[in-house]
Amino acid sequence: MKFNKILSVLILLSCLLSAQTWILNNGITVSRAYSGGNIIVDSSANDTIYIKADNTHTSTPWFYWNFSVKNAGSRKLNFKFDTYRMHVNGPCISTDTGASWQWQANGTVWQYARSFSYTFTDSSEVRFAFTIPYTERELKSFLASHTNNQHIAETLFCTSDSGRRVELIRAGRIDSHCKHRIFLSSRHHACETTGSWVLEGMLEAALANDTLGRWCRDKLEILAVPLIDKDGVELGEQGKGRTPHDHNRDYITIPLYNSVRAVKAQLPVLGDTLLRLGLDIHSPGQTAENISIYADTAKGRDAYTFAEILQDSQTTEGHIYDKSTAFNSFSNTTSGTCRQFVNNLPGVLFGATLEIPYTTTRNNSTEPRKSVSKSSLKAFGKNVLNAVRILLQEKYPEDGGTTESEINNKTHSLVLFAIPNPFNLASSINCFVPFNNTAEISITTIDGKMIQKIFLAKSGHHALQISAASFSAGIYLARMKTSNGLTKSLRMYLSK
Ligand SMILES: [Zn+2]
Repeated sequence: MKFNKILSVLILLSCLLSAQTWILNNGITVSRAYSGGNIIVDSSANDTIYIKADNTHTSTPWFYWNFSVKNAGSRKLNFKFDTYRMHVNGPCISTDTGASWQWQANGTVWQYARSFSYTFTDSSEVRFAFTIPYTERELKSFLASHTNNQHIAETLFCTSDSGRRVELIRAGRIDSHCKHRIFLSSRHHACETTGSWVLEGMLEAALANDTLGRWCRDKLEILAVPLIDKDGVELGEQGKGRTPHDHNRDYITIPLYNSVRAVKAQLPVLGDTLLRLGLDIHSPGQTAENISIYADTAKGRDAYTFAEILQDSQTTEGHIYDKSTAFNSFSNTTSGTCRQFVNNLPGVLFGATLEIPYTTTRNNSTEPRKSVSKSSLKAFGKNVLNAVRILLQEKYPEDGGTTESEINNKTHSLVLFAIPNPFNLASSINCFVPFNNTAEISITTIDGKMIQKIFLAKSGHHALQISAASFSAGIYLARMKTSNGLTKSLRMYLSK
């Protein structure tokens, strides 16, 4: 008892000294002393260690944690959090000091769990984290695997507020002869690591020896800042809700943070007149499972087209995006965000926020969950880049080298949506007719009575104004049929 008291005092002392490492009475070492590490050890008793997330510098406690344990022998230890700190797969575990990660479970047993147990096999280090970490170490390792590749380059973007290097990665066609540029960013919120894995997947896809990679190296320059809040990333801080405001609320007249100042000053120059879009990649709440796209209404049309292309062209190696549950556009955007800044740059199609869940993805509660892994996140990144390619080919056919067969035989080329929908006075039906095609749009009542037929003699984008004056309230069906036989339907809801 007396010894335990001494131990408690020791632990308290080490906390007061802003501890990075805790040595417990049984010799076990718990540590956060590495890039991205985050934990506070409150106390321990027998084989139970009481821990909590360190929410330093944040106003709204979140859930990010990442720590290592050494010298546990072959003990089974219990780790107890102050509140629920995991999603359905429990902890993500690494036995090779962070090189590879596995989830402890695949299922629902850990939902809202406050604790987990682990049986050690020897005294070597085991790391535990909320999700798969991504820090400068992972970025450097990715860059090292492409050292002699002339299609990717790392340069200094700026120095962080604490003097760290904030990297700008340029990939694809980087010899200044590109036709398009896009901006990618992640870690405006330091803890949102899955976004960086998706971003890395996009960079890697631009270097691959396939149609997408070759198109990128011919047409597209990617400008990417994968670790915007570099200090927060390395210090293992949550970053989200940072006081007085976080990096994604810092796009204001005079930003607080060096990296945001750098985006504001450099992006218009780096992007030149060729900047087409920006994707700011985040992770959502602790238990969210939808991959979501957030756009601003003013630029929502192109963002929606992008969402539709992504849904229609994605492969199953990645995670599945579903626009019907996860496309959101806002007319009153929270001010000061990266997305809003990109949207206000001249000539940009859109800036959007992409949210990548931490643990598992699925689009509704009846679907099986898919666990995130480095490879699944990177595969999704490749799908995102491919959707960017298709969008740019459709929007800039003179620059895109779109081949007829590529575009004509895919239903994603049949873009069809209405704004607003539901509508009460008028709506605009937006559609894309594939190259070398004509199309017919027929509007019928839900039980098939023909209301209107519109013939589109030209390929490309069309916006058709529909007046509701002579229609009665109800559901209408807009059906598009192209001359090469593809069809797509849209329900329109008229309320009066
Ligand atoms: Zn975020």
